[in-house]
Amino acid sequence: MKDRISRRGVIGLGVGAAALSAVGRTQPSGGVGFAVVGLGKLAQGQIIPGFANCRNARLAALVSGHPEKANRIAAEHRLPSSAVYNYDNFDRIAADPEIDVVYIVLPNFLHAEYTIRALKAGKHVLCEKPMATTVSDAEAMIAAAKVANRKLMIAYRCHYEPLNLEAMRRVRSGSLGKPRLVITKMVRQSDLSDPSDAWRLDMHQSGGGALADMGIYGVSGARYLLDEEPVEVRATARTNRNDPRFKTVEDLIAWEFRFASGAIAQGSTSFDAADEMAFEVIGQHKRLVADPGCFYNGNHLYQWQGGSRAEIAVHEIDQFAREMDWMADVVRGRAPLVSPGEEGLQDMRLMHAILESVGRDGAAVSTNWGYRRAVDPAMAVA
Ligand code: NDP
Repeated sequence: MKDRISRRGVIGLGVGAAALSAVGRTQPSGGVGFAVVGLGKLAQGQIIPGFANCRNARLAALVSGHPEKANRIAAEHRLPSSAVYNYDNFDRIAADPEIDVVYIVLPNFLHAEYTIRALKAGKHVLCEKPMATTVSDAEAMIAAAKVANRKLMIAYRCHYEPLNLEAMRRVRSGSLGKPRLVITKMVRQSDLSDPSDAWRLDMHQSGGGALADMGIYGVSGARYLLDEEPVEVRATARTNRNDPRFKTVEDLIAWEFRFASGAIAQGSTSFDAADEMAFEVIGQHKRLVADPGCFYNGNHLYQWQGGSRAEIAVHEIDQFAREMDWMADVVRGRAPLVSPGEEGLQDMRLMHAILESVGRDGAAVSTNWGYRRAVDPAMAVA
């Protein structure tokens, strides 16, 4: 007797979870089904492997412009050919009951279109950061989720990651004293000959080069570390326009957010610097240093008091599995939406304000829009 393999799990005799895991697919029967859209570096390197570590989320479908690649990955994960879609027949996902959530892992300029199409198809959406390339696209995505009555979550993995959560909790606890200064450094080298970087180095396709790719972690990080929104920003950029990478995007940007509490956040980003994703919170009495703080793994958190440093042990997890499981819990009504579209929109507005200040020679730009996050990630429980 041949086992029937449903995309919700294995029905029949002889093939169990162990056999599935042996081919790299450990998926709970009846889990929340995800369609992954765009099979590039992040999808293949982190997201698709991450399903093996999920409790509630399972890979249900793939969407790609390259059928050979998509069919190969589908076969590796025991998905039938009916689970492979392309960008032309994408809207047919509406009739696919296996798909509950669409995970958008496309270049930034395509996020809005595919998010809105997925919502119109009646699916929930998990969308990679930055949520869009323009503020108006981000607003349209939020509006579409409301009309469709579906969840829109932005894939901010650090909102769900133990080290970042520990840092938030320590700041909230008051153990550092009043937080005075947050410093974020989110930089890396870029390579125009890498197709995955080529669109990031195009203003239209990325929405802001290094700022939209890396700097966003510092923009978002300052806000969640302080649990406060900046009221003003000043920014400056240093960009070599003779470098072919920086024809349309800025390279090195440094900004300063001012907060009503008196705290200041200094952020920097670049696409021409040694890899670094680090942050620091300096309180009146102690400081926290996360260096690195936002890599996929190998992060370290230290607390400094005077000249003495203590490392804070933090459990390392598969950040993508955690985030996908959280989305699955949101869909099932078991967890609050910690990083909704509104969170992504606030970062879009702030990045826009940073670029506006750069364009106005560092003039102060008000960011006092009255936004307040609905759920503090440090307090959220799934
Ligand atoms: P890649 O360029 O490696 O992959 C994007 C994929 O999108 C392509 O492989 C392709 O897949 C598909 N695609 C469809 N149309 C186009 C097009 N016109 N040009 C290029 N690709 C297209 O990007 P990444 O995987 O590195 O990044 C994808 C998204 O994930 C971005 O929004 C990025 O910001 C985000 N990201 C988030 C990270 C995080 O830590 N949260 C880390 C890295 C990226 P196919 O051939 O299957 O159609």
